[in-house]
Parts: sequence; C-alpha cells; structure tokens
Amino acid sequence: MPLSFRALRLGLFVFFILAGMLFTAGWAMHHAKRQAMIEDAGRASQQLGLYANSLHTLIDRYRALPAVLALDPELIKALSSPVDKPVQDALNHKLERINSTANSSTLELLDSTGLAVAASNWRLPSTYVGSNYAFRPYFKQTQSQGTGRFYAVGVTSGVPGYFLSSAVQGENQRFLGAMVVKLEFPELEREWRQGSDILLVSDARGIIFIANQDGWRYRELKPLSREDRAELAVTRQYDKQPLVPLQHQVLNRFGDNSHLTRVQGPEGSTEYLWESLPLEAEGWTLHLLRKPQVSNAGRNAALAAAAVWLSLVFALLFISQRLRLARLRQRSREELKQLVEERTRDLRTAQEGLVQSAKLAALGQMSAALAHEINQPLTTQRMQLATLRLLLDNQRYDEARQALEPLEQMLTRMAALTGHLKTFARNSPSGLRERLDLATVVDQALQLLDTRIRAEQVEVALYLARPAWVRGDAIRLEQVLINLLRNALDAMAGKSYKRLEIRIELAADHWRLSVFDSGGGIPVEHLGNVFDPFFTTKPVGEGLGLGLAISYGIIHEAGGRLTVENQPGGACFAFTLPRDPEP
Ligand code: ADP
Repeated sequence: MPLSFRALRLGLFVFFILAGMLFTAGWAMHHAKRQAMIEDAGRASQQLGLYANSLHTLIDRYRALPAVLALDPELIKALSSPVDKPVQDALNHKLERINSTANSSTLELLDSTGLAVAASNWRLPSTYVGSNYAFRPYFKQTQSQGTGRFYAVGVTSGVPGYFLSSAVQGENQRFLGAMVVKLEFPELEREWRQGSDILLVSDARGIIFIANQDGWRYRELKPLSREDRAELAVTRQYDKQPLVPLQHQVLNRFGDNSHLTRVQGPEGSTEYLWESLPLEAEGWTLHLLRKPQVSNAGRNAALAAAAVWLSLVFALLFISQRLRLARLRQRSREELKQLVEERTRDLRTAQEGLVQSAKLAALGQMSAALAHEINQPLTTQRMQLATLRLLLDNQRYDEARQALEPLEQMLTRMAALTGHLKTFARNSPSGLRERLDLATVVDQALQLLDTRIRAEQVEVALYLARPAWVRGDAIRLEQVLINLLRNALDAMAGKSYKRLEIRIELAADHWRLSVFDSGGGIPVEHLGNVFDPFFTTKPVGEGLGLGLAISYGIIHEAGGRLTVENQPGGACFAFTLPRDPEP
C-alpha cells in the first residue's frame, strides 16, 4: 500500500473518531442542558403556583369588603338624597375608620354620577373626594352588573392599585352609587423582591403592571392594537405612564407556558427561563423569569458521552484487531502445517535414499566375507562331487547317498544366504506393517552375520521369548538388528573377551529387544550423539555414521523407541515395539 494512501486512511480515521466524539459530546451536552432546564422550569412553575396563591389570597381578603359596606343603611341613606357637608364629614370619618381597621389602601363612596362623595383619604391633598370617576370601567361595570374590578394608576394620587367595587342600591334595587376599595401591592412587591427571580403580572392586553424589580413595569409584552390604545386613553388605566415594548424572542420551548427566552430587558440582553401562569379570576397572567443555572451537568454529560464514544471505538478496534490476528494466526497455522507436511515428505524421501545407500555400503563391506563364505563351500562341493563321481563309478551307492547329505545342507545354507541378501538389497516400501515375530528377525540377522561371528569367535547368548509378535517391516527391522550387531562386533574387535547377549522380553504391552556386548561401551561424551546422522568414530572408509540414525528412524516409524545405555562391560542398545495381540 503506498505511504500517502495509508497516511490518508489514518487521517480519515482520526478525523472520524474526533468528529464522532465532538458530535456525541455536543449532542449529550445539548440534551443534558435541555433536561436540566426542563427540571428547572418544573421547579419554577411550582414556585409560580405559590406566588399566584399569595396574590389570590390577598385579593380575596378584600373582595367582600365593598359588598358588605354597600349594605350599610347609613351609606344607603346618605346617597338617597344630596350629600351635605355634615353627612360628608361623618362618611369621611367612617370610611377612614373602616379603612384603617380593614388595612386596605383606600375606601371611597361614589354617587350615581361617579362623583366621589366621601373617601378614607379625605385629609390628604390628593384626596379622591370631589373627583368624578364615571370614566373608570369599574364604575360602569358596577352600574351595569352590580360589581366591578379594575387595575389602574390613580388619576388623582398617581399610585397604581386594584379597584374592587360594589353597587349601593336603594329601594327597588335603584342604583345609588358605588362603594370602592382600592388595593395597592407595595408589600407584595417588597415580599416578592426577596428572591432572585423576576416576578411580573400582566393584564389581558399584555401590559406589565406589577413587577418585583425596577424597570419592568409598564412594558408591553405584545404590540397594542389601535382600539386598545384608544380604550386606554379613555379609561386612563395607566394614565400618564409611558408604555414601552419589551423585546423578547423564544429560543427553546418546553411547554405552552414554559420557554427559554432572550429578553432585551432593563439589564440588557439576557436569557431567562420564562414560566407563565394565567390567573383566570382577574384575567391577568403571572410571570416568573429565572436566569438558567450554569450547571456542570452539560459538561459532565459531554465528557461522559465522549468517554463512552471513545470506549466504544476502542472496543471495536480491539475486537477487529483480535479478529484480524485470529485470521492471520489461522492462515499461518495452515501455512505451517503445509510446510511441515512438505518437509516431512522431503525427509522421508531423503531417509529412504539413505537407507538404500547404507544398505549398499553394508553390502559392499559384506561382499568380501560373502565371497569367502561362498567360495569355501564351492571348493568343498567340487571336491565332494569328485568323490561322489568316484563312489558312483565304483557302485558304492550307499556311501554315495551319504556323501550327498552334507552337499545338500551346504546348498540349502547358501540358498538361504543369497535369499537374505536379495531381500536386504531390495528397496522396501516404507510404512509396511505386516505381522511378524521378532525372534525370527533375530535368527535371520544372526544367520547373515554367522561367518563373521564364528571367525571372530564371539560367544552369543540368546534369551528370546518367542513368538514375539509385533507389526512392522521385517526387512527394515532386520536391517536395524544387523546394524546393532555389526556395531557390537566392531566394538569388540580388539577385545579378548567377546560376548554378545540378545534378549527379547515382554514389558507391559511392549516387546523389548536388547543387544548387549562386551566392547567396553560408548564414551560418555558421545552418548548423546550416536543417533546423529554421520556421527562415527570409525576410520574413513569403514563407517558412514548412518547406521544408528537410520535405525532410530525405522523404529520410530514402527511406533517404538531406540535407546542406548552403558552397562558394566559394554554398551546396551534396546528398542521397544508395541505388542501385537495373539490372533
Ligand atoms: P557407523 O557404524 O557407520 O560408525 P553408526 O551410526 O552405526 O555408524 O554408529 C555410530 C557410532 O556409534 C559408531 O561410530 C560408534 O562410535 C558408536 N557405536 C555404535 N554402537 C556401538 C557399540 N555397541 N559399542 C561402542 N560404540 C558404538
């Protein structure tokens, strides 16, 4: 793969990880922030309910006051005829008393034309007494419906308040005038000012008229229509107060009355959690504005999401790496297996070649002895044939028959000898596993080496359990035995005491064949090398160093093990082969 392509791939990969991390972190942060805000909004909404309750309680406390006062016979009587000065004084004092007892802001009595005939604030320069309030909606409502309510800035006092009124009725429910109580909310505003939240009350037109912080009052939450403005001018609801629009833009909506909003308020451009609660009874709306809390939730969520993303990516990387490794391992295992099979095949071929050449070498060495072995009986036979002819000529048949016997024996022996040589020289196929008797293999090997054993006057002791059935290739096993015996004879060559001991014993489910000689044993430093190919201590031309290596291979292939140890007097080579059960 070209370097630049690899670098590009790596770059893309890193980009993918980083982009994924940023995306998940961003997403988690947004989600966590929104969740935190929704929870915050929930809490704000609960608080808003409490504020609404306190406002309700306050208004409810005074709602019945004008109705009860309107039933006062003194008031009804006073309004039934034009009010003169002494009556007015008495009414002023009475209203003043009741007002201070009820703890309301102001009490006033209007006659049927809307003129204030008496008021609790009669002592003040800004007293209502003498002013006409027929233009105020609450008066009109009282006239038509019996009760009225209206929030307005006092035209005389300039102090805003909530006017609650009840009709004073004479006989036959004749409208005589209106009893009015004015409530101001400075205490409420002071109380609301304690928290850090901004609390606002807006009227049905969206004009804020109560606020617990400066600069928020008389702001328009929505644009006023032309009709609205005209009506405001008539009712003088907010009188001379200038109305300023409040710019605000919803950023995130959590519910109908719950959103995150950017407001161009008195404190400049600020984001608020904005909760609203409509107050059905008054037709107002209560608002709570709270600065969103800077919490660690968003950052923590982003970090957690990034960590989860990275763990996920690395887990995937780890798994894919493991899979790739496993695939590679599987492939190299298969390649290795194939290689081992090829090498084993090569080795087997090489080993078979070596077996063959070792046999040829052995044949070469044996040929001299064989020539001698065959020549001698041939000479003897020629002489015996001459004797035989003489006997036959003289018709000495019985003696002639007797003289034939040794001849026949000699021929049988020679035939056996050549027969063995033939099979020995043959290249037998490897892996042959015929059923055979180990003792017979020993017999045949001894027969092949008989001449040398006799010539060198070696004492042979045989302890052979027979039959010793095993599975294998007779010719190869014979070759192993000949190797062992020839080595033993070589080792004893210069010794005065020559004894060869061959044993076949049963060891559990194996036959054990051992060859022990009196050749003095193998030097300890050579013990570990005798099975190595081409290891020999014999002079050049005499030893190839292949005999034991090949023998080792043959026994191993037949399922056995060839071992060597030094024993007192000489070396002991032994091999085991699995016992073949009796047929
Ligand atoms: P070679 O007979 O051609 O040397 P071998 O593999 O048959 O090859 O034997 C390797 C060597 O092991 C021999 O050269 C000899 O030193 C040692 N050896 C084998 N058999 C005996 C034994 N019976 N006694 C002492 N040395 C032995």
